[in-house]
Amino acid sequence: MRIDEILARKRTLSFEVFPPKKGAEERDKLFAAIDELKELSPDFISVTYGAGGSDSKNSVGIADYIQNRAGLTALAHITGGPSSPEDVDAVASALRDKGVENVLCLRGDRPANYEAEYCRYFPHATDLAAYLAPYRFTLGAACYPEGHMECESLYADLVNMKKKEDAGAKFFITQLFYDNSYYYRLVNEARRIGVTAPIIPGIMPLVNPKNIRRIKEMCGSAIPLEFRNMIEIYASRPAVMEEIGYNYAVYQIMDLIAKGAPGIHLYVMNNARTAKAICARLERVLRELF
Ligand code: FAD
Repeated sequence: MRIDEILARKRTLSFEVFPPKKGAEERDKLFAAIDELKELSPDFISVTYGAGGSDSKNSVGIADYIQNRAGLTALAHITGGPSSPEDVDAVASALRDKGVENVLCLRGDRPANYEAEYCRYFPHATDLAAYLAPYRFTLGAACYPEGHMECESLYADLVNMKKKEDAGAKFFITQLFYDNSYYYRLVNEARRIGVTAPIIPGIMPLVNPKNIRRIKEMCGSAIPLEFRNMIEIYASRPAVMEEIGYNYAVYQIMDLIAKGAPGIHLYVMNNARTAKAICARLERVLRELF
């Protein structure tokens, strides 16, 4: 099913998984996790695509599993940065053959050894969106409540967000954030400059204190002081830490729903347990408000 059509009808619940780097055993574990995620009745599951472009086959295989074996709606990410037009054609044709209708159109994270070759054909998500137009996927794109790390200002990033909509994005999914006020600012400012597509907030429950620094380095997301204090005080008690992380995510989600978010996208990192813990705490909310 096309995600823009689902969004026009209801609030969405979705999860994100990634292709495991190792062999068949890890892949089968992911398939089992997808089966468990299915029990939570998601509106779609998205599967990431490596910035190096190397796991494109895995990505297509996982999108195929979501769409055809689990019988759910798949959202396949494609990154233009590392890809040639031939790479994109191969992935897009394979996805189309598998009946996948939705693609999240991205540039991709720049690898550490970034060279000019990277982004040679598709410097931005907008270029990839234009190239994918003949495939007639429903396209989504990424957006950044705290601004993209490479962009000189939030406003410049918002202008680029509008370009993504003009290039065909029918919905957006945000970078993870821990302070909802950044999401509200993004939505307000995006609407002011004419972005009309639904903006789905991306939430990643933080249950491992080791991830605090990683999150800051990878995507620049601020962690509010009160939450950070709780994490640091109980960092050596994993069970308490999990409770804090789940409950904080639930608090964020409730606030987002109450203020009209069109859906919730959970970065579950292939871990069905995380998704179940969150959804169990929101069972009646999901039933009544999604
Ligand atoms: P772009 O939209 O190209 O933006 C990159 C920078 O260029 C920004 O600063 C932007 O303001 C600017 N810009 C955008 N368009 C233009 C334009 N037309 N002209 C000039 N400047 C422009 N990474 C992966 O490798 N694989 C994944 O599967 C993946 N999934 C993701 C899913 C979500 C929901 C999110 C939020 C991110 C994901 N990422 C993924 C990370 C993403 O690839 C990085 O954040 C990357 O640095 C930017 O990707 P983008 O598509 O936003 O790029």
